[in-house]
Amino acid sequence: MSDNSLRLVWVYPDLLSTYGDQGNALVVERRARQRGLEVSRVDVRSDQQLPTSGDIYLIGGGEDRPQRLAAERLRRDGGLNRAVDNGAIVFSVCAGYQILGHEFVNDLGEPEQGLGLLDVVSTRGHAERCVGDVLADIDSRLGLPPLTGFENHQGITHLGPHARPFARVRFGNGNGTGDGTEGAYNDTVFGTYMHGPVLARNPQIADLLLKLALDVNALPRVDDQWYEALRAERIAAATQPA
Ligand code: GLN
Repeated sequence: MSDNSLRLVWVYPDLLSTYGDQGNALVVERRARQRGLEVSRVDVRSDQQLPTSGDIYLIGGGEDRPQRLAAERLRRDGGLNRAVDNGAIVFSVCAGYQILGHEFVNDLGEPEQGLGLLDVVSTRGHAERCVGDVLADIDSRLGLPPLTGFENHQGITHLGPHARPFARVRFGNGNGTGDGTEGAYNDTVFGTYMHGPVLARNPQIADLLLKLALDVNALPRVDDQWYEALRAERIAAATQPA
């Protein structure tokens, strides 16, 4: 943080914002302002250099070709890796999640190198695309309520020993490897297959990013009744017998 202002960086909205991913940036900004924190947000297009002094970086989802272009440009830029070395927090969704791993399969069917910020490798699943609602229990160490969201991906993601599963699915596919895991994280870098503006449905994840960035254990409470009602509705819909 500098000047008491939290610096939020939205990475490559021109390539990785297929599913309303700007929602994640809006939610982090709002949750910070609700706590009286100042936030400055920078949206960095893929033809611009990524700042390395951000506190929180958000990366969205995308189709296969924009995903390859984003990976190429992020590798060439090197800024995200430097930001993580500087202690930045990163939250990524779908294609962004795959890019943060060691490797994924690109639109040409070839292995594409990722940034190696998460110890995961994504391959192309042989089964049908993973599409639909998801309900998952987030790793209890993170102290968050159940995750609800929507997934739409062909790739499946395998976790290495240095990545912890972000959540375990009660309903849906998540990483798609059949082991019930969903997403991955380490101390500062997070990835999930939940689509687009996942933080709008799960704003407590935005709070976690803020706490990590600010290095605090708690934030002032805010009224989450509306979100909790939505979560209860999604859980009921996902678990009621057909
Ligand atoms: N293109 C990737 C896949 O299909 C990621 C898709 C997405 O971002 N939803 O696996």
